[in-house]
Amino acid sequence: MSRYRIGFDVGGTNIAAAVYDEHYNMIEKASVPFPRGKDVYFVCRVLKNLADELVFENGVKKYDVISVGIAVPGSIDSSGETVIDAHNLGFFDAPMLTASKEAFSEGKEITQNIALINDADAACLAEHKKGVLRGATTAALITLGTGVGGGLIINGRLFKGGRGSGVEMGHMIIEQGGERCTCGNYGCAEALCSATWLINQGRKNFSGMIKTLAGGNIDAVTAKIVVDCAKAGDEVALSIFNKYVESLSSFIASLVNVLDIERVAIGGGVSGAGDFLVNPIIRKVGEKSFFRTHGDIAIAEFENDAGILGAALVHEY
Ligand SMILES: [Zn+2]
Repeated sequence: MSRYRIGFDVGGTNIAAAVYDEHYNMIEKASVPFPRGKDVYFVCRVLKNLADELVFENGVKKYDVISVGIAVPGSIDSSGETVIDAHNLGFFDAPMLTASKEAFSEGKEITQNIALINDADAACLAEHKKGVLRGATTAALITLGTGVGGGLIINGRLFKGGRGSGVEMGHMIIEQGGERCTCGNYGCAEALCSATWLINQGRKNFSGMIKTLAGGNIDAVTAKIVVDCAKAGDEVALSIFNKYVESLSSFIASLVNVLDIERVAIGGGVSGAGDFLVNPIIRKVGEKSFFRTHGDIAIAEFENDAGILGAALVHEY
């Protein structure tokens, strides 16, 4: 029997899971809605049921599972046992490792080799193993979504912070006295480089093509609409987009200056802008970085499956 691994991506809307073979090819995938308002023990029983669905057929084990990884959108303590803070899940100081081991010992046992991982770290592992960061010894994934997150690979290993508190690159301060961030500080990358920033700017400057594409409905403004309008040459949208490029390039140049990163991957919703975003970013990072040359910058390869694949990879890093 071959050896298989399961990865879970626990999000505030859905829980996704997949079984991978030893080369990390996806064999089967399943998902269920996230049970809102339930505690971590309940959620872990949902994970076990989902794993049972994937692993057993007519009561017979289809896959010999050697490890389970669980990605969560939040911070995990340095011992890897407790989800300290995952707003979207309603988990605070939740003993998720204990709860999952308990759930996975009920009924037909799958494995007790279980580990937790932050979802941005998981996405970084996925890119490093199978995506655009493949082969790099020093690499970063930056995710540009509702917030700004990311993961770091240093010397071929996932860097979890010097004291194990994690990597919060989205809260690098890139503009002194800049806009208020979700963390309470000002001028963080998250405040200036998130999809949320693009949306807010589109709403503040609700006119011309942005207004047309949003159907006159200010609440319908998305980051994609702002980017599409900039692509089409709309002046208002272009000036928003250019400011965004300034912020993002400062953020990436700062990372490059500190770590001399071989390769940076840009993921998350805003990365859908593709070359229209990456090309000016490469140029600006070149201008702003200390070094005469800098490492590659590219759009991340994985979208939705990055979390589950990275979770399945957690025992390798
Ligand atoms: Zn912040």
